[in-house]
Amino acid sequence: MNFLARIVRFLFWLLVVSWGLRLLRRIVGSMLRNDQPSAPQTTDSADGIPASSAARRLVRDPVCGMHVDETLSIPLRERGELLHFCSPACRDAYAVNVRKLAANG
Ligand SMILES: [Zn+2]
Repeated sequence: MNFLARIVRFLFWLLVVSWGLRLLRRIVGSMLRNDQPSAPQTTDSADGIPASSAARRLVRDPVCGMHVDETLSIPLRERGELLHFCSPACRDAYAVNVRKLAANG
């Protein structure tokens, strides 16, 4: 009889804990959803180019704004950030610009 009462008590707590966890998860989930108000993952989709092109990935040249195939672009690592340029001229222009900005302040 004592053993049976223990099992019943155990099952009761199991039920309470699982219910509480489910409630907690729902509260946390709704909070997380409120923190991110339906922001799309693609940040650079203003010009209507689909970000999920299957084989080739287009990257945007920050100097002239041209979209270049990632494999054909000229990469430049600037402060841990990888940038892509359509030509060495654009890369050099960007480098000069960065150096000018750094010199100004
Ligand atoms: Zn360019």
